[in-house]
This record gives sequence, structure tokens and C-alpha cells, in this order.
Amino acid sequence: MLEINNLHKSFGELAVIKGVDLKIDKGDVVVILGPSGSGKTTLLRCINFLEKADKGQAIFGDIGLNLKTASKKQIHEIRQKVAFVFQNYNLFHNKTALENVTEGLVYGKRISKQEAIEIGETALEKVGLSDKSKAYPSELSGGQQQRVGIARAVALNPDIILFDEPTSALDPELVGEVLSVMKDIAREGTTMLVVSHEMSFARDVANRVIFMDGGVVVEEGSPKDIFVSPKEERTKQFLKRVL
Ligand code: ATP
Repeated sequence: MLEINNLHKSFGELAVIKGVDLKIDKGDVVVILGPSGSGKTTLLRCINFLEKADKGQAIFGDIGLNLKTASKKQIHEIRQKVAFVFQNYNLFHNKTALENVTEGLVYGKRISKQEAIEIGETALEKVGLSDKSKAYPSELSGGQQQRVGIARAVALNPDIILFDEPTSALDPELVGEVLSVMKDIAREGTTMLVVSHEMSFARDVANRVIFMDGGVVVEEGSPKDIFVSPKEERTKQFLKRVL
């Protein structure tokens, strides 16, 4: 369903992604772990063209393309298939929760306003925010804002949702509600690629865990492979620090 081959990305002299390959199947919940600065967020942003890769190919379902030279039309097409949940929610502050969710449906997917409202209300219900549809982001807690961010992604009915450290901007007491919503949508079979420092989520919800360091994939496997019997020394050292 999604394949990335030989992805490279530098910022000036700094090589951040140094030849990453990735394969995600339908229904996979893949968590990317790794130390700060290892390139996890950049990898995710290159997949969704929020950053332009220096080199790399991608296959999204039946569409193959070059991540460096993809046309605007191709990027638009991929954005219909790939939704993104941001670390800092990225909500429109002058729009209500429901409007934040429907915006992409009306202007990106060209769905009628009435239909978008119905889809948006269902998505807000799914994240437990039916009663907040008319609230503005400033009236919501961080956890609620991130749940709106997730509803916005779910409403697009994408092939895959990319999550970029979705709980790392939250106060600790708000992390649980967001992870719980993520767990629910994973159980429904949503294909998810998640950059996270939440080891319990990786252990309990992922079917595959990827450990990145220094811009490369060091090791990948089932949560059991990675957490119980990691093979690579760098993985062992990282887990020793965070567990
Ligand atoms: P963290 O877990 O701390 O978020 P990460 O593994 O997600 O880290 P990235 O955010 O991908 O790492 O960053 C990798 C490196 O690239 C870091 O050294 C970062 O400073 C650098 N970097 C990221 N974005 C940019 C940018 N737009 N311009 C310059 N350098 C950048």
C-alpha cells in the first residue's frame, strides 16, 4: 500500500535521512522510535511532501512517483490518500472544531457542505467530541484539540494516517485520551504510521516497530522482536535509556 525507497534528505550540510526504505501494508500500525534528531519527523514530512526529499521513490497504492520531482497534481493526489496529524495540532483558530474537520472535505475533496458536515460530525463522535463541535480551539484542552486533529484526518477517509509525535506537546494527564482514540482507530483497521516516544503504545498497539538512528533504519520487527530481543547494539542502548 505504501512503499518508500532510498529516501534522502539534507538541510544544508546536515544529512538527516540517509537512504531509508519503508514498506507498509494495509492495516499495519507501524511505530517509528528513535532518539531526538534521528530524522523521524523529517521522514514523515517527506512522505507527505511537507518537505521535499533530495532523492527517493514512493509507491502509494497504484501510483508510483519520485519524491523529489513529483508534480503539484501528483502531490494533490497523494494528499487525498495520506492524512497527517501534527504535533501541534495545526488547527485553524478562527474556525470551530467541526469547521476544522470539514474544511479539507469541502475544499480538498470537493464534497458538498452538507455531506461534509455529516462526515465531520461522525468523525467528531468517533473521537468523543460530539458536544464540542461548535467550540473554537481556544476553548478546548490540548488533548481535545489533538482529537479534533485526529477527527480531521479520519474524516478524509485516507488510505493511511501519518502521526507526527501526536502526544508530545500535551501535558502528561492529557496523553491518555489521545492514545486511547488512536488505539480505537487502529483497532478498526486504519493503516497508521506513527512517530512517537510512547513506548506503551508501540508495545501494545503496533504490529511493527522501526528503530531509527542517525538517519537510517537500524532495526525493525514486531514489538516483541524490538522490545524483548533487539539485535542491534544501538537499539539496545536506546531502549535501556527510555524504558
Ligand atoms: P525529535 O524526536 O526530537 O522530534 P526527530 O528524530 O523527529 O527528532 P527531526 O525533527 O527529523 O528528528 O530532525 C532531524 C534533524 O534535522 C535535527 O538535527 C533537526 O534540527 C534538523 N532539521 C529538521 N528540520 C529542519 C529544517 N527545516 N531546517 C534545518 N534543520 C532541520
